[in-house]
Amino acid sequence: MSQRIGIIGAGIAGLACGIELKRKGHQVKIFESTSSPGGRIKTDHIDGYLFDHGFQVFLPSYERAKYFLDYKKLKFKKFKPGALLQSGNSFEKISDPFRDMNSFFSTVKNSRASIKDKLLTLKLKRFCKSFKLNGDSGESTIDFLNNFGFSKLYIESFFKPFFAGVFLEKDLITDKNFFLYLFDKFSSASASLPEAGMQSIPLQMAEGLSEDELSLSNSVISIGRNSIISEKDAVESFDKIVVAVSAHSASKFLELPSLLSNKMHSVSTYYYSTTSSKLASKYLYLASNSKHINHVACLTAVNSSYAPKGSHLFSVNVINSQRLDSRFVTEDLKNIFPAEEVDSWKYMKSYHVQKALPKKAVFGKLEASINGIYVAGDFMQSPSIQGALESGYQVAQNI
Ligand SMILES: Cc1cc2nc3c(=O)[nH]c(=O)nc-3n(C[C@H](O)[C@H](O)[C@H](O)COP(=O)(O)OP(=O)(O)OC[C@H]3O[C@@H](n4cnc5c(N)ncnc54)[C@H](O)[C@@H]3O)c2cc1C
Repeated sequence: MSQRIGIIGAGIAGLACGIELKRKGHQVKIFESTSSPGGRIKTDHIDGYLFDHGFQVFLPSYERAKYFLDYKKLKFKKFKPGALLQSGNSFEKISDPFRDMNSFFSTVKNSRASIKDKLLTLKLKRFCKSFKLNGDSGESTIDFLNNFGFSKLYIESFFKPFFAGVFLEKDLITDKNFFLYLFDKFSSASASLPEAGMQSIPLQMAEGLSEDELSLSNSVISIGRNSIISEKDAVESFDKIVVAVSAHSASKFLELPSLLSNKMHSVSTYYYSTTSSKLASKYLYLASNSKHINHVACLTAVNSSYAPKGSHLFSVNVINSQRLDSRFVTEDLKNIFPAEEVDSWKYMKSYHVQKALPKKAVFGKLEASINGIYVAGDFMQSPSIQGALESGYQVAQNI
């Protein structure tokens, strides 16, 4: 029987839930407090540049994404697998020779990884093939990597900066199961950026929703079991309600103080433009020896739409709970790249995302429905686009 469902939040989770409920024949209304859908996935278009709100990549191997997205229309542009590892004043390439034939010799020669590390990487790839993420293991990623036998140098040069950039925490205390899941996803497809920036992912999802179904700039003030009070519409009745906001905001609606303790990791992204293509690379730079910077990506080497023709856009990322003045970041860039090259870069803009990723996900262990109200969001599954999509999909199945 068709029901009228009210959804709070037009992030990836709320959109996935709304789309799936519509497919099942229900009527939906999604309330979103900001002026565009996407939640934590936003892109500013300014003077021909695309500025994502924090460095994010999409993994085409995410299972639930294949269900919701039209990959062809998003025109994904791929990073090269692997990375450039900081070694003294320069960088050495490490890649997956099976997917990136040209990198074979540089990968074999890479001095940051021993032969044993390279063989263990192949073993790890097999070990986590098609790994299913069903919950925590109780073991941290860092303990797992040490126990697996990787050298300290390789862990410090590759795993730490690479996965710090994914988990948004530097010590790799994130549970090893999430690491194994992501290692498999990174091994089976290249990290990608859609042609029109990361926000084109939620924008594509929102395309099929009418203005009545997606109510933008309309913040929900409070909810009852069958009613929503919003800024624009006062009280409205619904058969069911889905809360699809961050854990912190959800605690307010659900009166669940335990969600408040679900703290979030922070990150800052600094954008620089240059006309020089000396450092343009489709590989991620991992800055394991720098003071502040964790990783640097040349977005335009991967996807030329991120800057006007003739310019390159670099995304420089600092994992920090406080916003750092850009002058310190520019100084730090000179510790990892030639100073005269950095002098040709122009600082453009920065984003500090205080509440970027939930520190812990509950993997569906929280009841899907609390006092008759349904809950979706990345914190219900895993802190990722896949986790948010899956949580929205699962809630729609439970209604
Ligand atoms: C900097 C950064 C980097 C990331 N990198 C990656 C990556 O590389 N790969 C990856 O897979 N994932 C990455 N993620 C994670 C991914 O973006 C998130 O997991 C996902 O977008 C979360 O979606 P969500 O729908 O659960 O929550 P949100 O995106 O937080 O959506 C919640 C929505 O609810 C709205 N809302 C809140 N309160 C109200 C209210 N009272 N009334 C109405 N609306 C309300 C908010 O405005 C928001 O739009 C990254 C996240 C960040 C921030």
